[in-house]
Amino acid sequence: MSAPIRRALISVSDKTGLAEFGQFLAKNGVEILSTGGSAKALRDAGVDVVEVSEHTGFPEIMDGRVKTLQPTIHGGLLAVRDNPQHIQAMKDHNIAAIDLLVVNLYPFEATVAKGADFDTCIENIDIGGPALIRAGAKNHAFVTVVVDPSDYVRVMDEMTGGAGTTSAAFRRTLAHRAYARTAAYDSAISRWFAEQEGETFPQTFTLSGALKQTMRYGENPHQDAAFYVNGEDRPGVANAVQLQGKELSYNNLNDTDAAFELVSEFDDLACAIIKHANPCGVSLGGSLKEAYLKALSCDSESAFGGIVALNRTLDGATAEEIVKIFTEVVIAPDIDDDAKAILATKKNIRVLSAGAMAPAHEGGLMIKSLAGGFLLQGRDNKVLDDMKVVTKRQPSAREMADLRFAFTIAKHVKSNAIVYAKNAMTVGVGAGQMSRVNASRIAAFKAEAAAAQAGDSESWAKGSVVSSDAFFPFADGLLAAAEAGATAVIQPGGSIRDEDVIKAADDAGLAMVFTGMRHFRH
Ligand code: 5GP
Repeated sequence: MSAPIRRALISVSDKTGLAEFGQFLAKNGVEILSTGGSAKALRDAGVDVVEVSEHTGFPEIMDGRVKTLQPTIHGGLLAVRDNPQHIQAMKDHNIAAIDLLVVNLYPFEATVAKGADFDTCIENIDIGGPALIRAGAKNHAFVTVVVDPSDYVRVMDEMTGGAGTTSAAFRRTLAHRAYARTAAYDSAISRWFAEQEGETFPQTFTLSGALKQTMRYGENPHQDAAFYVNGEDRPGVANAVQLQGKELSYNNLNDTDAAFELVSEFDDLACAIIKHANPCGVSLGGSLKEAYLKALSCDSESAFGGIVALNRTLDGATAEEIVKIFTEVVIAPDIDDDAKAILATKKNIRVLSAGAMAPAHEGGLMIKSLAGGFLLQGRDNKVLDDMKVVTKRQPSAREMADLRFAFTIAKHVKSNAIVYAKNAMTVGVGAGQMSRVNASRIAAFKAEAAAAQAGDSESWAKGSVVSSDAFFPFADGLLAAAEAGATAVIQPGGSIRDEDVIKAADDAGLAMVFTGMRHFRH
């Protein structure tokens, strides 16, 4: 138990909620020390304050670079209240104990995000603030440290219920939050410095994110898991509003992210159904309901328990179809009222409204953990712009559109990836195989199964186009596709046996396009 809060130091850049909090503290007999701008805001709200400069007898100097960096302040935060030597030092040096510290930092991240120039960013590196926070948090046995205005209410509640004091458990939680904040702050600064030096990757990389959710378990029931958000305002799983359904699981989040990023690739209306982060069906164009039904028909067996992603507002007609089979998650930029009412009849479906589409071609970093470290890389965001026909036969306009579509889908399929497509829908997806020819065979098998399911005697691969995420190292994968009925091929090219593969394509009467760009995904 600590003594009631008698003295507070308030130094905040974000003045949200400050007036009310200051008034509460004053009413509870707390003496308030404060720095220039914060003192003014408090006085404007009718709260009596003592300026830090008055308290320390030392003025704020160097445009505020030195305000609270004083032994009188740091001694007041760091003194162990029941340590006789510390008590003596406080007496000797006229140091008054500070029981409550309210600090939020110069808005460095927001300044960078606004595109400010170098000097402005440097000036927005807070020095005294992190020092205060770290000192107070170290001494959380006695000091309550608040770094986020959204915690003011909780502090007021604690003080009201605790005769002017806060609980030790709460102070410890706040200390944890305080160090998380200073760590994230310094990490943002070091990343910015790396950028200034033209480096994508700083010397040390600190992952920082705010805990959004702890899950019951991870990929498997015996694994712990949590979801952190990094403050990026990218539309998608982190920022979507969940309208109904249970909490998203680890696998739901992973799959929904894959699903939404895929449909965000397309300007045309698109629907994708995802299982284990791989698409089992994707379709473009027509009405939303048609697109959903086509995506479903590609592999209706696998679609069971899948994730449905759309890049248009979900309507009632489509929702009516979606609820006919067991679906884990639906995500769309928006959900209309008819669709909401229909989905509400299936309480278990998790429904997410993302607000907008993800910027598929924007940059960003991807992270993968390994034993002893992690890998970072830029997003696979390059736009397909260089399609070179390498065969005697030119693809028709219809084939060309499907080739582009199939290659974009292949980018979202785990390697080795083979995708058959026809008329802006996938008809067979071969995912995650160790050999390209096997991926090709599996995709062809799926195209046959889809046809059988629809009562067609001819495989849906007949007259389709085929995409490979990486080059065909031998002609066999391509020949498997030709055998299945594909008439055109898209692949990066670049194999030492390209000549053989092109010849095989010519012999089989196929049209083939090289992209010069690979889309491995593991
Ligand atoms: P105010 O608006 O009250 O003048 O300034 C508040 C800001 O100053 C807070 O963001 C706080 O973190 C920061 N701050 C407090 N003491 C110091 C200091 O000694 N040096 C620097 N650079 N910033 C400080």
